[in-house]
Amino acid sequence: MRRLFNTLFYKQQQRTRLQLFSFNYTPTMAAPYHTKIVPVNPLHFQFEQTTHGDDFAEQNAKPVIADPKDQTAIEEAAQLLTAGDAVGIPTETVYGLAANALSADAVAKIFAAKNRPQDNPLIVHVSSLAMLKRILPNNTIPPVYQQVIKHHWPGPLTIIVPTSDLIPTQITCGQPTVAVRFPSHPVARALINQCDFPLAAPSANSSGKPSTTLASHVFDDLKGRIPLILDGGPCNVGVESTVLDGLRNPPAILRPGGVTYESLSSLPGMEGLQVYRKDFIDRALEQAPTTPGMKYRHYSPEAKVILLENAADPHTFERQWKQELEKQEKPVRRLGLLVTSKDTPSVVNHQGVECIPVFMGRGEHPEEVARGVFKGLRDLDTQNVDLIFVQGIPETAEGMAVMNRLRKAASKVIEL
Ligand code: AMP
Ligand code: MG
Repeated sequence: MRRLFNTLFYKQQQRTRLQLFSFNYTPTMAAPYHTKIVPVNPLHFQFEQTTHGDDFAEQNAKPVIADPKDQTAIEEAAQLLTAGDAVGIPTETVYGLAANALSADAVAKIFAAKNRPQDNPLIVHVSSLAMLKRILPNNTIPPVYQQVIKHHWPGPLTIIVPTSDLIPTQITCGQPTVAVRFPSHPVARALINQCDFPLAAPSANSSGKPSTTLASHVFDDLKGRIPLILDGGPCNVGVESTVLDGLRNPPAILRPGGVTYESLSSLPGMEGLQVYRKDFIDRALEQAPTTPGMKYRHYSPEAKVILLENAADPHTFERQWKQELEKQEKPVRRLGLLVTSKDTPSVVNHQGVECIPVFMGRGEHPEEVARGVFKGLRDLDTQNVDLIFVQGIPETAEGMAVMNRLRKAASKVIEL
């Protein structure tokens, strides 16, 4: 009796506590969860090729999990996903909030937990070409993607394909196409394989916030809203996948990401590859927010962000932010400096304003900056800064994705 009372009392207490921090979320939110974080070690996963001499042997490889603890973690996550829950999972790009892509009810949980606008479509994640074929009309992969898949799957590349009746309209937001990716992260790959159904997964942040590249980021944003987060350590790429639309002529990158323009444009089928916004603008695309950040606020920390483009030189950057700071109307007490040069003079105090520098990777190594950009924005938020100046990087290789995210996070962009 006493135990029952204690349990009920604890549940009640927990509910009150959870309600306190979830009051500003949508009422569609399901009952609060006790969010568990389960560690998994990506190094304990191997992929054995079962077909040999075939063009797609790598894509057809099957997971072998060395440690029973990792196997148990994968099974626990797969059980929740099979039951229709949403789970936080590591991928090579950013952490994803995954749910069964073939169930409208499961997919609805993603939108509720993230507070994501209903007209922003989701990417569907598969762990084999056979799984992709299962969801395609006539089980046929459009031939234009043949070389792209061979070179970049599994990996941080999403392709746009025709959708079918198997995919709930909540995923496509009523469009005739669906976005699909085959992630290379061993944990994501093994988990989808264990589920044996594709997983819909956007980034595991609350909508509008910077994406999550650590399990702790997912916990900060979604605690109490999902039952489980698999912690596979930091994400290796750090920015979302490249979204490629090969159904257009010429093909186009709708969102720059982990796979670079340079590594796609030379492949057969990708002749004349364009980049959305840089090379063309499509009115229909602007209406349906199929490339993120067109319609909604994206990747934004609490603090106001000002991006200084072409400020790779640390002295130029310093001169520029000091000038900009003078123009601010609202008082700034704590200032965040998100920098890409190691030798940035470490100003600790400027005319009574406390300066907090955070290094996000060397500007001449854009893959490093990609890995550090979202963490940098989040770290400055936890330091309670009022304003953030970001030192931009050149738009080559991963720099294109980094600058795309930063422009969307920024309320002001200054081109020097
Ligand atoms: P997220 O994973 O939250 O960063 O967002 C997924 C993104 O995938 C969407 O915002 C779109 O940019 C893209 N996407 C999903 N479905 C489609 C589609 N059918 N056509 C074009 N882009 C899509
Ligand atoms: Mg996102």
